[in-house]
Amino acid sequence: MIRVASLWKTYDRADGPVHALCDVSIDVEAGSFTTIAGPSGAGKSTLLLALGGLLSATSGEIHFRDLPIHRMGDAELAAFRRDHVGFVMQSQSLIPYLTARANVALPLALQGVARSEKNGRARAALDAVGLGDRANHLPRELSAGQQQRATIARAMVTRPALLLADEPTGNLDPELAREILAVLRNLNREVGTTVVMVTHSPEAAALGTVRLRMSAGTITTIDAAACASPA
Ligand code: ADP
Repeated sequence: MIRVASLWKTYDRADGPVHALCDVSIDVEAGSFTTIAGPSGAGKSTLLLALGGLLSATSGEIHFRDLPIHRMGDAELAAFRRDHVGFVMQSQSLIPYLTARANVALPLALQGVARSEKNGRARAALDAVGLGDRANHLPRELSAGQQQRATIARAMVTRPALLLADEPTGNLDPELAREILAVLRNLNREVGTTVVMVTHSPEAAALGTVRLRMSAGTITTIDAAACASPA
């Protein structure tokens, strides 16, 4: 689904250039659940942002199916993200004065989906993450874990082929973190969404069908789960 070839990203900073990605090449198969672990500063978030068309690399290529992401301009990238990618980021927050359902419906408004269809799809996305009974609640009326589930529902409501998650369990206690991981794993298994997740947590990283480790801008380990036996 995604092919990354010889990707470099250098940030120019006042104190000198920082090579965040150094010749990274990976393939992400459709239907896989890829986890990216590694120390802080390894380049994990930079790689995720590049995959989602949110950051332009210094050189190298990224293809999503047949689309050359690395050659797209801003308008094409915006359309690519709108139509194909869901983002779940740690810092991302729900809009405080909108109900859970209205928050989840926002990406559909960007796609011009009719109001009647929007409400039904937002409700279905909330049901899928176990929040159907909280549709009319404001974010402050939801627990941290429920808020993160609503964020996942918002990322999934457009049925993107690709879900990119950056430390989606970072702020949560272990119990809630497990709950959120189960929601993501379920979307991958049941809906077939391809997931790429950056994480510090070894427990979260272990969930991957493909487990990458990064260090100093390079991929140091690729570990793929053995094929499940047919019977
Ligand atoms: P990780 O997600 O593994 O913690 P990052 O991708 O956030 O790593 O960062 C990789 C390197 O790039 C770090 O040295 C970081 O300080 C630097 N970096 C990240 N974003 C920026 C930016 N916007 N401007 C300058 N340097 C950055």
